[in-house]
Amino acid sequence: MTTDNADIARKPALQKPLAVMLFGAPGSGKGTTGKMLTKLTGWPHLATGDLLREQITRKTSLGLEMQSILAAGQLAPDDLVSRMVGDRLGWSDCEAGFLLDGFPRTIPQAEGLAQWFSGRNFRPVLIHLWVEYNEILRRLTGRRTCSNCGAIYHLESTPSQVPDVCDNDGAALTVRADDKEEVVLQRLQTYQTQTWPVAETLRKNGILVEAIECGEMDPESVADRIRWRLDRIGGSIAKKNKPE
Ligand code: AMP
Repeated sequence: MTTDNADIARKPALQKPLAVMLFGAPGSGKGTTGKMLTKLTGWPHLATGDLLREQITRKTSLGLEMQSILAAGQLAPDDLVSRMVGDRLGWSDCEAGFLLDGFPRTIPQAEGLAQWFSGRNFRPVLIHLWVEYNEILRRLTGRRTCSNCGAIYHLESTPSQVPDVCDNDGAALTVRADDKEEVVLQRLQTYQTQTWPVAETLRKNGILVEAIECGEMDPESVADRIRWRLDRIGGSIAKKNKPE
């Protein structure tokens, strides 16, 4: 990481905590970037896809209900996801700032969240990760995920040291059910029709929208750039001033 942390350290102490929404197409790097930003800031990384997959792995009744929806590349019901996020945002670890990944993903979710922000002491900002369509396809079809810790790899650009084995914990790497090609196309269509208008909805609700052109930038550079932008926006950013 090359960010100069001196700027962040100089910020006045009494700024509003930032509430960062990582936004972008499937495969735009929200998950990987979110994990990196969490290490940098100490903020919780709330990924609705991870929360739903956890329910599926634990075979809860909600998980059993969600399994076929996720496997088909469709969206879970708005009220359910919004409630799940609303509950989680009430935890005390969100008070100093948080990262949302994959939420909001529809206009009703966006309107509900804008309502949640009004009257609360956060500075919300949507970070739109822009990646070109062919690059998205390349990323999703080569993605491998650790079945245990959720670490994300790519067959070509970020392979594990031993094929199909996680570097962190030795667990097997798997292809997410929804990373199969036919499902990927459905997810991209869902993104285009239901999620794309979310940025505009939030902008109309007075929420700052920042775009980052990711191109083929590596995830560390993307996280670095986001951190730099957040610092310029001027919220109270990091509990930790040095990356681990
Ligand atoms: P992700 O890991 O963000 O790609 O999400 C994986 C899947 O979880 C999506 O394709 C949806 O089926 C579901 N999902 C995640 N976030 C949401 C959300 N905000 N609203 C509805 N469904 C969601």
